[in-house]
Order: sequence, then structure tokens, then C-alpha cells
Amino acid sequence: MDVTFLGTGAAYPSPTRGASATVIRFEGECWLFDCGEGTQTQFMRSHLKAGRITKIFITHLHGDHFFGLPGLLCTISLQSSSTTNKQPVNIYGPLGLRSFLRRIMDLSHSQLVFPYVVHELVPTRDQCPMEEQKEVSFVDRDDVSLEEVQGTAIRLDPVADSYVLVDNEQFVIKAFKLFHRIPSFGFVVEEKRRPGKLNVQKLKELGVPPGPLYGKLKDGVTVVLENGTTVSPLDVLEDPLPGRKICIFGDCSGIVGDAAVRLCHEADLLVHEATLDDTQAAKAIEHGHSTPKMAAEFAKLCQVKKLALTHFSQRYKPASQVGEGDMDVTELKRQAELVLDEQEVFLAEDFMTIGIPIKNKRCAS
Ligand SMILES: [Zn+2]
Ligand SMILES: [Zn+2]
Repeated sequence: MDVTFLGTGAAYPSPTRGASATVIRFEGECWLFDCGEGTQTQFMRSHLKAGRITKIFITHLHGDHFFGLPGLLCTISLQSSSTTNKQPVNIYGPLGLRSFLRRIMDLSHSQLVFPYVVHELVPTRDQCPMEEQKEVSFVDRDDVSLEEVQGTAIRLDPVADSYVLVDNEQFVIKAFKLFHRIPSFGFVVEEKRRPGKLNVQKLKELGVPPGPLYGKLKDGVTVVLENGTTVSPLDVLEDPLPGRKICIFGDCSGIVGDAAVRLCHEADLLVHEATLDDTQAAKAIEHGHSTPKMAAEFAKLCQVKKLALTHFSQRYKPASQVGEGDMDVTELKRQAELVLDEQEVFLAEDFMTIGIPIKNKRCAS
């Protein structure tokens, strides 16, 4: 599991910073978070393969976060063979995304060789200023093209104050509400606990013969041996290993409610926007954005293990490309570290990868 930044700039793509795009790689799949203009060429310049994308998450409908989506889908289609029976690409994003994609595919007569499905998150009124509220209606299924599989509308779970996007044996992906100029979301990818290993020494001591019984015990089934001894999985399984957790924020000047704090608690990595530095806090907030201090305060509140800042105003060139007269981006790192008692903060740059290794420390259960 690792996280690669393909676009770390705000507002528009530039030669030094692409528009927003972040990839989580998990067991050979790529999950793309935001798809700013030019994301497809960023993929080509990276070690990642766009053809491996199985899920796409769009944080909000500002152009620098999704103008790259139709082009990326069309290019993946051009490069795939039409004969392979592909699973649909699942796309999650705010209400309105389905109609955007449907119209653009229709107007451009684009046909994909693989199916896709758009699941729309229904925002609430508290996610943006009153004057920016817009009524976006659902699109009905009249003119669905062949490749589009009808998606779902995902509504806020009022008790948990969050949205459940995916929940399977291996992981759960949820969204939570953020405050921005238009409704914005953050996503949390949480791997479920990995079952503990079988303790072979104990199996031998209890006289369990190697073979199918090992598998049953590993699956949590109690077995009875030929000699009548009952062996419970608890006797022979080591404690489970904790899963990993990655949180990716959309643009925001703050969270809405407290779900984000609960969901991001002790995350292995928090990817948070820091569009402007702390000296420009008033301007940042006015435009619905955060500064390093704001990002670090949230990271501290949630006791996250790593904080990576991204979505920098294009005025901050990557540290490796700073020229004379350019703003010093490392100042943003310093501002965040000040809040986090010198805990190291990462400044995202295009093509930077952060590994999230499997945890060896067992869960105390
Ligand atoms: Zn943005
Ligand atoms: Zn935005």
C-alpha cells in the first residue's frame, strides 16, 4: 500500500505542479483521488498505470479536481482491448458528477470499451456559504449509454454523520463533510484487521495434524480432533494485525461536524490541503482553504502518524525547483511542524510516493 501524488498544485496545472490527483495503490489496484486537468499525462510520466484504476473519488466539483476525468477515461479505453471483460470503474463524487460525465460523453460521441458507474454523494446545506448554494438535480436513467451502469445516490448516515462508500472483507471507505466554497468531501480508507498467524508450535503441542484443520482454525472455526480434544481458534491464532488508515481531504477551510475527527483518529497518513501559508490565513479562509497551521492542528487533534500537505498555490514551487524570487515552500513545512512539536511534515511534490507498510505490532485484544 502506498500513496503517490500526481498533482499537488491549486487552481490549474503548471509545469511544476499538476492539478489535484493522488493515487493509493492497494494490492495491484489504483484508486485515484481527484482528477485535475492533465492527470492522464501525469500517469504516463509516473511509474503507475492508469489501466489499473478501479475506483475514482472526486472530492468536489471545482474544475482543478475533475476536469481531467473524461479525457483520462477515454485514454484508458483507447489503450484497453475491447475483448477483455473488464469490471466497471466505480466513480464516487458529489451530486452532479453523473450528469457532467453523461453529457460530455454524449456530446463528444465518446464510447468506452469498459463499463463505469457513478455513485453520487448527496451533500448537505452546511457544507458551503449560503450564497453558493445551488440546486443540483438527479439525472434519471432515460439516456444512459451502454457503458454506464446505473449508480446509486449515497446519502449521509445521520447517526454516524458520514457516508459509507465501500465496505467489504478487506477494507471500508467512508466520506465525511468539509466546508468549502462549494460542498467538498474528505475520504478515509481503512483496512480491516488482518487475521493473526497460526502458531505452529501450539498446533503441534495440541496434536493438530497439518492439513485442512489448519485452514479451518485460521478461518475461525473450532475443530474436534480424532482423540476428542476440542481446539478453538483462540488457542492457536496469534493476535490480529491492525489495518492501515489513509485520509485524503478535499479543499476546505474546516470540517463540518465531528465525524472527520473520529474517522481520521490515528491515521497512518493524512493528506491535507494547505493552499496558502499562515501569513495569508484570512485570504485562505475567505476562499475556503487551509494553511499549514490549520492542517497541522487537525492532524494533532486526530493524533495522525504522518501529515502530508498538498494543493499548494502555484506561487510555491517544489523545493527542488525553487528559483530566485520564488516563494519558499519549505516555510509551509516549518509552519506545520511548529504545531506538531517538530514531528516531520511532508510537502507533497508531483511523483512523490509515501509507503504505508503493513503493521507488525499486534492489536491488543
Ligand atoms: Zn482546488
Ligand atoms: Zn476547490
